[in-house]
Amino acid sequence: MIEKEELQKLKAQLESDRTKIAEGINHLERDNLNKSQRDASGDLSGYSFHMADMATDNFDREFSLDLASNEQVLLNRIDEALRKIQEGTYGVCENCTKPISSKRLKAVPYAKLCIKCKEEEEKNARRGE
Ligand SMILES: [Zn+2]
Repeated sequence: MIEKEELQKLKAQLESDRTKIAEGINHLERDNLNKSQRDASGDLSGYSFHMADMATDNFDREFSLDLASNEQVLLNRIDEALRKIQEGTYGVCENCTKPISSKRLKAVPYAKLCIKCKEEEEKNARRGE
């Protein structure tokens, strides 16, 4: 099992990651809001009429929205890990209920599966394609 001291470190790591990601999401949302407002104003002076440029602009927006949803998923996983620390169920594989190695938790503090189950899941995912 995980040492108490180690758990504190992992918790601190999760909390600082959480803050960083939350700030990143805010930034991305603000960025998108600014772009939407520019669209809504009907002021096209900021736009080039070249189709290529407009496509790039759309691409950028979709890209950052994608990024925001990836970050949101990560945020949820971190929240879940922090909740588990509270409940005392942290570091246990959700699949086989065996302890997740502390080496793995140090690399991925929000890991839900032990390395064996994770590898199994990835194998299955590949087969499903
Ligand atoms: Zn497992």
